Amino acid sequence: LVFTLITIGTRFTAGQANQPTPAVARRAQQTVPAPQYIPPHDYDQRNIRLDLKFDWEHEQAIGLATITLAPTVKDLRRVDFDAAYMTISGATLSSGSTLKWDYDASKERLSVQLDRAYQPTEELTVVISYHTNQPPPEKRAGLGGGGLNFIKPRPDEPTRPRQVWSQGEAESNHLWFPSFDHPNDFITSEIVATVEKPLRVISNGKLISAKDNPDGTRTFDWKIDEPHATYLTSIIVGEFVPVVGEYAGVPIITNVYRNELEEGKITAARLPDMVKFFSEKTGVKYPYAKYAQTTVRDFGGGMENISATTQTDNMIHDARTELDSTADSLESHELAHQWFGDYVTCRSWSDIWLNESFATYFQALWDEHSLGHDDFLYLDVRGNQESYYAAWARGQRRPIVTKNYANPDAVFDTYAYPRGGAVLHMLRTFLGEDNWWRSINHYLT
Ligand SMILES: [Zn+2]
Repeated sequence: LVFTLITIGTRFTAGQANQPTPAVARRAQQTVPAPQYIPPHDYDQRNIRLDLKFDWEHEQAIGLATITLAPTVKDLRRVDFDAAYMTISGATLSSGSTLKWDYDASKERLSVQLDRAYQPTEELTVVISYHTNQPPPEKRAGLGGGGLNFIKPRPDEPTRPRQVWSQGEAESNHLWFPSFDHPNDFITSEIVATVEKPLRVISNGKLISAKDNPDGTRTFDWKIDEPHATYLTSIIVGEFVPVVGEYAGVPIITNVYRNELEEGKITAARLPDMVKFFSEKTGVKYPYAKYAQTTVRDFGGGMENISATTQTDNMIHDARTELDSTADSLESHELAHQWFGDYVTCRSWSDIWLNESFATYFQALWDEHSLGHDDFLYLDVRGNQESYYAAWARGQRRPIVTKNYANPDAVFDTYAYPRGGAVLHMLRTFLGEDNWWRSINHYLT
């Protein structure tokens, strides 16, 4: 995840302008939040299939969630899912037999009573019919785009595109489908979504089919067989044209607006080379059926949804702009996450540096490869160090790994990104090139 680069720059350097305060006073200002733990659950979620259509007027997804799971305890009689701002209309087993359920909106929890006790040797499939609701405005502000967002033309902006995009990290995917919405239980997933032409659906993994329906709609079926954390599940609906590239038989695609195709080609020119570079350096070939990055409106940065990154449409620029600045940092950062974050994932948000510091340092390694060692040292290594020193100087101090955070979104700070990136550079320098790359390969494999 990257918030807009401007935001990061402001946040990481804002403290430098402040007058220094005495060390004792600075330390006294910092309160340490209570430790956080991923809540326990008594089943292993294995596959989630979503069948979705959209009500644009009410900004709702109308869905069927088919969740396959296995008990991790004896005699499992009830399954609890995370589910927020939802209207539930029913729950059944895959056989069709009806199950009792209870939805507690205040706890964001859907409890489904099973028809009998299930054992760890069994697998069962629960089907939940539901629709989403937009959180009230006072809640939306704190979500930072989390959940499902509807973009529509407005009187003050009639050319605004029609889009739906989701944002799952840290724990917001349970705003659009019931699930165990924490990073320590991987699933395979399938999203089958029906939209009006000429809209398209972009999601994780491989496009199994795109079928025309008699009513003028189209149904897209996306499926990913590689297990992944819940928060990496994504859907984007919109009108896009692809900039198509390729690496070793894997399609490398940048989905852009129709009127930005030429600019899209310029912006994404080095993306296939980035996939090659990370594949060769890590010794792990890009692991999914395709890589797509898709630009959307009002998205604050980039998000490494598995094999289907979401990017801000501000990323796209023309040839003149390319002379002064590229989008390589954002593109290489989200791409690096496909290995560090998606292929291997932090078990809890305490360890977020395993995602963000690695993506920050691998975006720097791309700079070293494409711009040279001096640019790498000056722009990236020094930049990461100075961001960290500035945070420390303004009294913002924490260990890189900590259970003491206010909420899962609060860990995405200077220590998760440049501070850990600076430590990785130290480790690489200490180990030397051969041992560093052997270590990286060992970590991933
Ligand atoms: Zn990131």
